[in-house]
Amino acid sequence: MRRPLIAGNWKMNKTVTESIEFAKGFIEAVKDVTDRDIMIAPPFTSIYPMAEVLKGSNVYLGAQNMYFEEKGAFTGEVSPIMLKDAGCKFVILGHSERRYIFGETDELINKKVLSAVSHELIPVLCVGELLEERELGKTFEVVERQLSEGLKGVPESAEFVIAYEPVWAIGTGKTATPQLAEEIHSFLREKLTELYGKSKADSVRILYGGSVKPENVEGLMAMKNIDGALVGGASLKVDSFEKIVKFG
Ligand code: PEP
Repeated sequence: MRRPLIAGNWKMNKTVTESIEFAKGFIEAVKDVTDRDIMIAPPFTSIYPMAEVLKGSNVYLGAQNMYFEEKGAFTGEVSPIMLKDAGCKFVILGHSERRYIFGETDELINKKVLSAVSHELIPVLCVGELLEERELGKTFEVVERQLSEGLKGVPESAEFVIAYEPVWAIGTGKTATPQLAEEIHSFLREKLTELYGKSKADSVRILYGGSVKPENVEGLMAMKNIDGALVGGASLKVDSFEKIVKFG
């Protein structure tokens, strides 16, 4: 019912030259994939040059962040209008590295989510608990707060994606077990049902992120409420990202 979405988050990796080289090889590798969506979020500098290479392909582009204003005196920031114009369809918002390295709050992330949907960019809202929050039994409370605060004011008609990324599993090689991830995904879908009703909640894709690799993607994707993956490290090489995209 929900079309899977496999998304790569390159973080601060790859020059323009490296990005273009990847894009050329990757298009060829995934050209026959038609039953799922594929997205790559490169660094800002690579978005436009990659859009030129990916034109007409089945690979969408996303950004890893944006500011909520359209333009103006916001040194160092990039706007939703700029991202759309450069070729983005998606924008990752509230990634844990934005929250915990750059101090982004739920309130700021909510402004960005609202701005993204009003500019017809699809936000991928990331939620996830820190290791200490999990150990204190606060996982449900944390992800519920991040979800409801992040989506405040977002209308049912807006398309958005949620990514559950337990912070202790990002870049650490520690993946949540499929059962543990599914427990949170089904909880998030229940919360979406409370916020938007069942039909909308059933249509929202909830991705899992945190050390997804070719070896663990099958188990995760077999879960009822896991609708895709947000992949960091393993999206940087054509062969590993291709294997993840082609799960199943
Ligand atoms: C991420 O950056 O969103 C991520 C999940 O990273 P990794 O796959 O490297 O854990």
